[in-house]
Amino acid sequence: MDFTQFTQRTEAFLNEISREQYQVGAGLKESLELTPIYHRHADLFTRETVLDRLEDADRKEGRHLASFAAVGFMDNGTKELSEAVTNAELKATVEWDGQNVPYHNVRPILTKEPDWRRRHDLGRRSLAVMAKQNPLRAQRLSTLHALPRDLGFPGYVAMNEKLEAWDLKGLAEKLDAVVAATSDVFERELSRRLVAAGVPRAEADIWDVAYIMRASELDKMFPADRLIGSLEKTLNGMGIGLETTPGLHLDTEPRPLKSPRAFCAAIRVPTEVMLVIKPIGGQDDYGSLFHEAGHAEHFSHADPALPVAFRYMGDAAVSETYAFLMEHLLYNRRWLADVLQSPPELAEEYRRFSIFSKLWFVRRYAAKLRYELHLHAHGPDGSAPVYQRLLHNNLKVSIPQERYLDDVDDWFYVGGYTRAWIFEMQLREHLVRNWGETWYTAREAGAFLKSLWAAGIRDSVDEMARSLGYAGLDPRPLTEELVSL
Ligand SMILES: [Zn+2]
Repeated sequence: MDFTQFTQRTEAFLNEISREQYQVGAGLKESLELTPIYHRHADLFTRETVLDRLEDADRKEGRHLASFAAVGFMDNGTKELSEAVTNAELKATVEWDGQNVPYHNVRPILTKEPDWRRRHDLGRRSLAVMAKQNPLRAQRLSTLHALPRDLGFPGYVAMNEKLEAWDLKGLAEKLDAVVAATSDVFERELSRRLVAAGVPRAEADIWDVAYIMRASELDKMFPADRLIGSLEKTLNGMGIGLETTPGLHLDTEPRPLKSPRAFCAAIRVPTEVMLVIKPIGGQDDYGSLFHEAGHAEHFSHADPALPVAFRYMGDAAVSETYAFLMEHLLYNRRWLADVLQSPPELAEEYRRFSIFSKLWFVRRYAAKLRYELHLHAHGPDGSAPVYQRLLHNNLKVSIPQERYLDDVDDWFYVGGYTRAWIFEMQLREHLVRNWGETWYTAREAGAFLKSLWAAGIRDSVDEMARSLGYAGLDPRPLTEELVSL
């Protein structure tokens, strides 16, 4: 398939997939039917198509397209096993309090259970059910690991580094430095919060932390009736009208089947970007709306003249950076006081809670990156104790070995999140340096963000950091925020 044909067909495919996801998420359609769309476009992901695209992978535009085709090829090559895992999970139940609870409903029960002994009991039952699918997950990974060789790559890690232009080992070293610099503050805060939740320090496990993170007592700071108004007020302050951004459509209509969680569907970039909300209130609802609004603003401000490869595909960290930038406002003490009139003590409590939560995730993803580098180089055999050791080193609570194949994302998505955490803090440092702590009220800051959004996903966050005057991705501002706890 030639270049022009491939880009046109790819855009049509992406539009169809996003429209289907929007309609189901928005409650306009009852079931998700992606398979017919994949069938219609099956020739986009054949080995021949990927090999054609790889010939052009030394140019940035060609590389983005090659990565997209290669990921599609690998998804296609593992789809039966992926479906088998998903279907087994959908059928699985966990026995709890004399009832059979669907496996997927266990997590909300765990995060609400105040008795740590009962939490641990339910957690162990859920693990035993999940571990039954580990042979299928191992089979899927082995199949996945064989596919890069069909395309002429020595292995999965090398293929990712080439097609994403990522230096994963260099990134792992940067994150290890963040982990080392934050260990004392992490241990202090973790112990304090475990004591407050009545969990003996030596017994603590991952479900105790999930329970702490729910922090329902903080939900009262975030009322449902002020959710959309607070987003509008913030964007208006930067001269970015939510209603006046062409291409951005706010879907607030109540529908029974609508997803309770806000999401962004970039159906056509930049002319048809949906921001979908069902206002419930509480910290999770505000967090997901502001996060998704960052994605929506980014996509709806992309220059329409950009090629497909720079509007839809590229460095996953770019859009996540804008999403994290918007989401961070919720724990910005000035923003909490100005927009939600939060009293200073409560704003400070929420800031510390949010940074602790971020610290947990940064340390968790740093360990996950180390582990996934091991797993994708050595395969599933013998990896369970490596998973347990690496995660325990960073998280300091009991880690179940059984999760070693479930707690893994394809294609090093961990690199997207961790690089976005690093770059978002560099971008925020730049905003504060130029427009002060309340940069989110400055029209010039809004104009600057729009100028970045116009470039779509053309540049990687490494390139963007250099254009802001940094030597490259620098975790210093991230470390400084994390130790300010
Ligand atoms: Zn996101």
